[in-house]
Amino acid sequence: MKVFISADIEGVAGVVHREHTARDGREHDRARMLMTEEVNACIEGALSWGATEVVVNDSHGTMRNLIPEAIHPEAEYITGSPKILAMMEGINPEFDAAIFLGYHSRMGNDGILNHTFHGGVIQNIRINHRDMGEIALNAGIAGVFGVPVVLVTGCQHAAGEALEFIPNVETAIVKHTINRQSAKNLSPQKARCLIKEKTIASLSRLPTFQPVSLQGPFEVEITYLHPGLADAAGILPIVERVNQTTHRFETDEFITAFRYIRSLIAIAGALN
Ligand SMILES: [Zn+2]
Repeated sequence: MKVFISADIEGVAGVVHREHTARDGREHDRARMLMTEEVNACIEGALSWGATEVVVNDSHGTMRNLIPEAIHPEAEYITGSPKILAMMEGINPEFDAAIFLGYHSRMGNDGILNHTFHGGVIQNIRINHRDMGEIALNAGIAGVFGVPVVLVTGCQHAAGEALEFIPNVETAIVKHTINRQSAKNLSPQKARCLIKEKTIASLSRLPTFQPVSLQGPFEVEITYLHPGLADAAGILPIVERVNQTTHRFETDEFITAFRYIRSLIAIAGALN
């Protein structure tokens, strides 16, 4: 059995602030260790259920957060950025299960540190008239490769968002959001125990999961935080301007849609 883990940081127990998540944050190194140890708990769970291969993709910011010396020795990890599939780089049809660790809800939803890919650019992403955050988009990518998402860890709102989009998914709630920058957390030890337990629980019912299957063509609408961002991203010729802050485009392939979304975010962020 092969298990793919996409590891973000905002949904890790104890992480509530930019000082935890940003490269220059005073608490960033501590948050990286908390993230790495939650990943290790997940790896231990997968190995104890018989996984023969575990690959972890570092999925936050610079994608250089996992602490190499501290990662479980039996897992391989993908580090660095940019990567074409970003948070899902490394996924392929040989994996039996995907796990989203330390995830968060989409921009504007309730949930600790909610955002969608870039908190300074994106207000909302809709595909075929459905709001899509990172959980939904990344589950869609896993689905293209025929891999089911079996477990999502994070706050209660990330868990709720996951269940809306992946009805059968296992969740591990390691903290309860109070507001966007505060939460009631499990202790690191309890959070790790829960993640290990839930990893085993999800893999033990692997045959009950289906990959998310999204049918094209895809109509994508991207709403930015302000019109200047739409002005900047508008240089990409695929988009049509719907209103001051929204672009739309169409494509038949989900991965192509995702790559355009990432391109628009990068251009908007760079030129504004
Ligand atoms: Zn992140």
